[in-house]
Amino acid sequence: MTAGRGSVTLVGGGPGDPDLLTVAAVRALGEADVVLFDRLAPHQALAELAPGAALIDVGKRPGHHPIPQQEIERLLVAHAQAGARVVRLKGGDPFVFGRGGEEAEACRRAGIPVRVVPGVTSAIAVPGAAGIPVTHREVSRLFTVVSGHAPLSDAELEHLAGLGGTIVILMGVSNLPSITAGLQRFGMAATIPVAVVERGFAAAQRTTFAELATARAVAERAGVVSPAVVVIGEVVRLARDGDVEASAALAGAGAVLDDGRAR
Ligand code: SAH
Repeated sequence: MTAGRGSVTLVGGGPGDPDLLTVAAVRALGEADVVLFDRLAPHQALAELAPGAALIDVGKRPGHHPIPQQEIERLLVAHAQAGARVVRLKGGDPFVFGRGGEEAEACRRAGIPVRVVPGVTSAIAVPGAAGIPVTHREVSRLFTVVSGHAPLSDAELEHLAGLGGTIVILMGVSNLPSITAGLQRFGMAATIPVAVVERGFAAAQRTTFAELATARAVAERAGVVSPAVVVIGEVVRLARDGDVEASAALAGAGAVLDDGRAR
């Protein structure tokens, strides 16, 4: 433990593969006294990356209750007040549906110095790992990242349906039926391609393709489960229909990341 004043560093851990940690993330972990980590953060490598740290699992696990958000914030502050360099390791980027803002605020309120290390977000990287670029020249020039954790309102569905770009949904598996039905209700074409990419960057990564009208049934039949990123939009065709040039370029990019497991 440090003699000086404690601090908190919110670290984006990327989508799960330790190779996708930033240099700043690796450095912060290497210097940490305490690491509080989530289920989707690259925690398997923590013993190696944070050899001097006490490791605290605050993530949700099936059958176990997650540690409530307030308790996580209390732990961050308490360890920092005791003088520790605390790393809060989160999946993806800390500020994309990660409650990073709340944790930073809690630290500031307690007078704890807090720093944020951005991370590779699954919203962009997981579609990319499946060969789906979220934007592509003359196909899509915008993408919207939506949380599917709670049902979308009619106003949200109407605007999303009217935007015409790529829709990326995180935490969207359980609400997929209501989202796809809602988008069709507000005029999105039934034939718009949909991809569900499960367990991005893991050996068991899988992509399931469908169209807006069939997504519900196809996902059910395939037994799609969380964590998964849902992509709705014409860019999905680039992976599905084998746009040779684009998918070759993208597969090449993936191969640089993980030699044996190129997808
Ligand atoms: N802050 C994170 C997102 C947290 S919300 C980020 O920037 O990536 C958690 C959701 O992210 C999951 O339900 C899933 O939709 C998505 N997700 C994160 N990692 C993933 C992965 N490796 N494969 C597929 N989906 C992932």
